[in-house]
Amino acid sequence: MINTDTPLQDRFGRGVEYLRLSVTDRCDFRCVYCMSEDMTFLPRAQILTLEQLYDIASSFVHLGVKKIRLTGGEPLVRKNVMALVERLGQLEQLEQLHLTTNGAQLDKFAAPLKAAGLTGINISLDSLQPDRFKELTRFGELKKVLTGIDAARDAGFQRLKLNAVILKGRNDDEILDLIDYVRDKHIDISFIEEMPLGNISEHDRALSFISSEQIRSKIESRYALTPTTENTGGPSRYYRMSDSTSRIGFISPHSNNFCHLCNRVRLTVEGRLLLCLGNEHSVSLKEIVDRYPGDDQKLREAIIKAMDLKPERHHFSLDDEPQIVRFMNTTGG
Ligand code: SAM
Ligand code: SF4
Repeated sequence: MINTDTPLQDRFGRGVEYLRLSVTDRCDFRCVYCMSEDMTFLPRAQILTLEQLYDIASSFVHLGVKKIRLTGGEPLVRKNVMALVERLGQLEQLEQLHLTTNGAQLDKFAAPLKAAGLTGINISLDSLQPDRFKELTRFGELKKVLTGIDAARDAGFQRLKLNAVILKGRNDDEILDLIDYVRDKHIDISFIEEMPLGNISEHDRALSFISSEQIRSKIESRYALTPTTENTGGPSRYYRMSDSTSRIGFISPHSNNFCHLCNRVRLTVEGRLLLCLGNEHSVSLKEIVDRYPGDDQKLREAIIKAMDLKPERHHFSLDDEPQIVRFMNTTGG
């Protein structure tokens, strides 16, 4: 019998302490790098119920996971998502409960999320120009998102972070504007290199690609950056400016291999446990929770066994064909 009381570890000795939990594949935006315009979303019968999401998350916490990030799709479009946040917020061993959101509904949700025990929010924002913001998100209203960011600050979230995907020729002229915005608001920002997830036809990823190094040198044309050893448990490499509290992070799956530090796994809303963002290795936990509802032992055993499938590293390249056919919204970005 498998011992289900020891912390999770993979074959390469990496402890797994971080779960990214996708609570829906749906979204009220259609960002050009994330989705195609005519997306088909999963039928309800194929997705985990909120109860099942909770059972799986709490099994992970029992197995030593200290941080959970709710993501998607857009987590705040999932009906009754607050009920899940409230229950997760009460798990004592869970040190960090974070959310990644497009921010469009934060004006309404920020205060209740804080009250429910959420400890951090990442907000995706790629442009500060209303027309361009609409073009990049296909549906987004910039003003709503900016109001949402202020609502999150007012609700008392200490460290807020923006995530920005920079595309050459689309928003690379806004890098310094985004930096000035986060400096003004005293929040952090991470720049993410576009990843080849899902088939999108809107643009050619090889042409839009801009590396973290290029972004960094643009920022350094105005602000000197000092590397820090700070680590928020993720793949971002952080820098600071001497006259600001804001941290600037770079997530560089192409140009910087962060796999040896990888402490995370992802659960899709279909209940597939993905052991690596850039590989298809996965196990269905939905089969377990459908077949043995409420049986924590079975669930924990399945999770422990799945750790053996975590690959050593991913390989992304800028070839035309995405190596991974699933979209970021089903992956849990
Ligand atoms: N809807 C939420 C949001 O936008 O923050 C959460 C889910 S979204 C998939 C999570 C993150 O993935 C966002 O910051 C988004 O910019 C990023 N993302 C989506 N597709 C991407 C891609 N192809 N390459 C790099 N980042 C991507
Ligand atoms: Fe929606 Fe987030 Fe994907 Fe944009 S990046 S389409 S907001 S899931």
